[in-house]
Amino acid sequence: MTVSLRCNVGSTMWMAAIGGAAAAAGSMAWAVRSPRSSVLAPSVHRGDPNRKSIAITFDDGPSESTPRLLEALARHGARATFFHCGANVERVPAVARQVAAAGHELGNHTYSHPMIQFKSSEFIYSEMRRAQSVIEQTAGVAPVLFRAPYGVRWFGLREAQRRLNLLGVMWTVIALDWKLTAEAAARRILRGSCPGAIVCLHDGRGTRKDPDISATIDTIQRVLPVWADWGYQFETVSQILCKTN
Ligand SMILES: [Zn+2]
Repeated sequence: MTVSLRCNVGSTMWMAAIGGAAAAAGSMAWAVRSPRSSVLAPSVHRGDPNRKSIAITFDDGPSESTPRLLEALARHGARATFFHCGANVERVPAVARQVAAAGHELGNHTYSHPMIQFKSSEFIYSEMRRAQSVIEQTAGVAPVLFRAPYGVRWFGLREAQRRLNLLGVMWTVIALDWKLTAEAAARRILRGSCPGAIVCLHDGRGTRKDPDISATIDTIQRVLPVWADWGYQFETVSQILCKTN
């Protein structure tokens, strides 16, 4: 009886410990990856919900195919926000300048698109500072917005953002355009649309040269006329974060 009771108490304690560890791991995963988390660094995931606007964003550019995307956006008079990687800007500097000249906002998406989880604060800061410098020197604008590669935040990011004067930007809805068909990606982001939404797509694939972004271009060509029909305006992230009153 005594042995049995001790066993029960022991197993209950173990279960509680395992449950506590699982809860802590779950909280940590949420802090690192959730678009709504600002635990590790300040960030936003939606703009002003009081006006009917959408902020379209593109990560992982610029790429050799970005000009085709710019044409699609121009046909609808849509301004967007491009989170550039420094290495891509160095590869196709004329495209980065073209994006800025077309009136789009440029944001920082690190230099080489690393997963920053478990990386040192110095590494995180140097990746962000290098991208900031390359973008500013090439396109003539200093980004004020940062999007973490893979949406992953880590310790040290808060300080790096503060030092570089960057606000983290996550998303209201992500297209998964690197793996879904254009039809599925379009359906997904239309379903997630709402006033003030920040929508995440990709005009590159990491720092790959000449990436195939035809699904992204097809997706944006499908959703732009629908959003326009629904009465949405298109704004940059900095614009959509400004309150109307
Ligand atoms: Zn990315």
